[in-house]
Amino acid sequence: MAKREDYYEIRPIAEQVYRITSAEGVFCELLVGSKRAMLIDTGNGFGDLRAAVRGVTELPLVIVNTHGHVDHTSGNCQFAQPAYLCREDWELCRRHNSRKQREFSIQDAGDKVDYITGAHFNALPEDFDEEAYLAESEGELLPLDGGEVFDLGGITVEAVKTGGHTKGGMSFYYREKRWLYAGDAFGFFLWLFDQDSTDRATYLAGLDKAIALQPERIYGGHNPEPMTVEDLQLSRRAAVEADFAKGEPFQAPILNTDGTLPEIRACVLDGMTMEDFGKPGFAAIVIDESR
Ligand SMILES: [Zn+2]
Repeated sequence: MAKREDYYEIRPIAEQVYRITSAEGVFCELLVGSKRAMLIDTGNGFGDLRAAVRGVTELPLVIVNTHGHVDHTSGNCQFAQPAYLCREDWELCRRHNSRKQREFSIQDAGDKVDYITGAHFNALPEDFDEEAYLAESEGELLPLDGGEVFDLGGITVEAVKTGGHTKGGMSFYYREKRWLYAGDAFGFFLWLFDQDSTDRATYLAGLDKAIALQPERIYGGHNPEPMTVEDLQLSRRAAVEADFAKGEPFQAPILNTDGTLPEIRACVLDGMTMEDFGKPGFAAIVIDESR
C-alpha cells in the first residue's frame, strides 16, 4: 500500500474538475474555480487528503459533506477550516467520527474485500499513524439547509437537499455542467433502513427534486461511472414498488442500539434477485418493515 502522501489518486475528468479515489472505495470530488475551490466529501481520511488537494490548487477551499457517514467525513479534520454539513446529520457525523467508530474503521480497513475479485486487502497506508487517527474528530461544522449557492468563479454550485439515505443528505449541483454530486443519496442499491435514514416519502421527494433538475450526469460516492436521469427513474420505481413482505432477507451491516440485528430486506425490481446485482435493469432498495 502507498504511503499517506501518495495514497490518493487524483483523476481529471474535465477542465478544473477532479475525482479523488483511493483504496477507501469512496470518491471525493474537487472543483477548481477561478476564485475558490470546492472539495465535496473527505472520505475516510486514511491518507493525506490535504496534501493531495493542495497538490492541485492553493486557492481558498470550500469543504462540503454530502452526508454525515464515516466514509464521507473522516478526512474533515485534516483541514484547518470548517466543513459544511446539513445540521440534521451533525449528530450522526459526530457518532461516526467517535473514537469507537474510528477503531472500527481501522479494523475494517485492515481486511477489506474487493467485491469484483473477492481478494482481501489492507486499505491502510503503510505509514498509517493509528493513534493520530483515533484522536481525530469530525472537525468544525457549518450548517447547510439546501438552496445555498457557492460561486467558485466560473463554477456555480447549489446545495440541494436530498434526504433518504440519511436525514441530512445534500447533493451538490454544478450548474454550468448540469452535473449532480449526490454522495450516497441515489443508486441502484439504496440503503434506507436504519435510525439515520428517512421514511420512503422523504427519500422520493429528494429523488424527484434531483430528477426535476434533469442533470446530465449524477455522480455517486461509490460509483466509478456517473448515473443518468433514466437510472434515477429506475431506482425511483424500485422504491415505489418495494414490498417488504416480498423482499429478500438481508444481513444488516450494523447492529441496533440495543445490540440486536435489525430485520431488513432487499427489495429488487422486476423479479430480479440480489444475484443479479450489477446487471442492466437491476435496482434495489434495502428497507425495514417500518418504511
Ligand atoms: Zn452513506
